[in-house]
Amino acid sequence: MSIDALQSRTLVLNKGWQPVNTINVKDAIGKIYCGSARALGSDFVTYGFEEWVNTWSDLSIIAKVDQHKIISCKKFEFLAPEVIILAEYSGQTSRDAKFSRRNIFIRDNYTCQYCYKRFPVKQLNIDHIIPRSRGGNTSWENVALSCLPCNTKKAARTPEEANMKLLKKPIKPKWSALQCQLGQKLPNSWKTFIDSFYWNVSLIDEE
Ligand SMILES: [Zn+2]
Repeated sequence: MSIDALQSRTLVLNKGWQPVNTINVKDAIGKIYCGSARALGSDFVTYGFEEWVNTWSDLSIIAKVDQHKIISCKKFEFLAPEVIILAEYSGQTSRDAKFSRRNIFIRDNYTCQYCYKRFPVKQLNIDHIIPRSRGGNTSWENVALSCLPCNTKKAARTPEEANMKLLKKPIKPKWSALQCQLGQKLPNSWKTFIDSFYWNVSLIDEE
């Protein structure tokens, strides 16, 4: 088996095609196999297990994609499903995201909210928009990523006082189940379902 392919993750949509969470490919294939979900192809057609394997094992398709997207077993090779749709369980889409350091980085897209540039994790701070010394609390609505120079510039002032404008209004993400590794690029096939959810999405493992 291709270890890479089995370690990748599959986006799970509920019956209404809204993202619910992500699971590893092995579990996704298990769900398709037992009929509790169908795989979604890049053609936006849904497939049961056999249909999927038969359709997406065509050598002309296999030859075109990255090796890490291919599942190979003894008997056959087929594309790892990147998106599946649950057959029954409707899935919740509005669970609150856990307030965590990692989720703040993901919500703010590793981007300083004051100078709008992306930075490596180590060069970013979590800024209290209204400083704690001024009564600001530690909440989704009062924190934003800030690079070190912006953090120093802002100091113990509000953004208005420092004449610094936030990139986005910081809000609490509503959807908490999407899992994603730090720095992992989202597959294109997910973007259709995720872009519009960006502010409602948290990309963490739920514990
Ligand atoms: Zn900055």
